[in-house]
Amino acid sequence: MRTFEKNIRKVEPYVPGEQPQNKVIKLNTNENPYPPCPGVVKALETLDTDRLRLYPDPACTLLVDALADFYHVKPEQVFVGVGSDDVLSMCFLTFFNSQKPVLFPDITYSFYKVWAELYRIPYECQKLDEDFRIVKEDYYRENGGVIFPNPNAPTAIYEELDVVEDIIRNNQDVIVIVDEAYIDFGGKSALELIDRYDNLVVVQTFSKARSMAGMRIGYAISNPLLIRYLNDAKYSFNSYTMNQAALVCGVEAVRDREYFEEGIRKIVETREWAGKRLAELGFRCLDSSANFIFATHPAYDAKELFEALKENGIYVRYWGSERIGQYLRITIGTREEMEVLFGFLERYMGKKN
Ligand SMILES: *Cc1c(COP(=O)(O)O)cnc(C)c1O
Repeated sequence: MRTFEKNIRKVEPYVPGEQPQNKVIKLNTNENPYPPCPGVVKALETLDTDRLRLYPDPACTLLVDALADFYHVKPEQVFVGVGSDDVLSMCFLTFFNSQKPVLFPDITYSFYKVWAELYRIPYECQKLDEDFRIVKEDYYRENGGVIFPNPNAPTAIYEELDVVEDIIRNNQDVIVIVDEAYIDFGGKSALELIDRYDNLVVVQTFSKARSMAGMRIGYAISNPLLIRYLNDAKYSFNSYTMNQAALVCGVEAVRDREYFEEGIRKIVETREWAGKRLAELGFRCLDSSANFIFATHPAYDAKELFEALKENGIYVRYWGSERIGQYLRITIGTREEMEVLFGFLERYMGKKN
């Protein structure tokens, strides 16, 4: 090994779901099957390209103001970043700076572990129970911070707001981050607790319910003090995180509440229908409050099914890791995409029986 190797910061990276370049039925990374709202399309078509000579607004004022308006908070309570991955990464760097371990579930968004290792933050995973539920008491021990998604990923299970509040209340000496990437598809946001708990940070994204995964916009909402600390870290890292196109498109996406709500309604409707279809085929599905379903089949090996689907141009997500080795995560696509999935499953299962 070369001597310089020992000084290199090494990390086992997060592995994102595949982004195949050919046309497939893509149900593997929880993207929205519908396009962004018309205002976003128009903003891109009329983008002032001369403006690209200049650095974008480092404070992201227009986007921050639009989000503050939408969520009825002050602009000083909003932080934006390059997808919630960027926001969460900044949160880890800023808020998790203790010798004590940060706590998060054993089955959850696998990026948490990667950031903890990248930033050398000690962490401890708390086991979900047999039904993949968070055991709130596991988070009452001494720790350096707490983070969990609600609804959780990849289980899609939503924990009631009183469970979330109990975890926040029992951790007032540390920061608690609630990652609400999927909250728009079901459940109550912890945003309503922001005024009551000064240790709470809520993180959301434009990638799922707002159909803008490709634009990379995420945000945190908290109290002005914690948002100031986040901004201090950001300005010490990269002042110009949000590009000009993301800033103008983001504002348009936030303003069109009607389109946003209609998109969610369609996905939830397809999800409920798809859940029934999966059950008819013998799958066991966890209760989903998100835009995906986590499913297992007692008679079919998940890995084999995953590979058969892929060979037929239908991409779903499979991890093969401990406790979830027999599960597939299926993103809710359009009704037509889901019909293709079910058509394949019916043929596959019919043939094997
Ligand atoms: C999708 C997702 C994110 C990150 O999404 P961005 O595209 O970076 O905004 C964060 N947390 C969870 C749990 C997710 O599923």
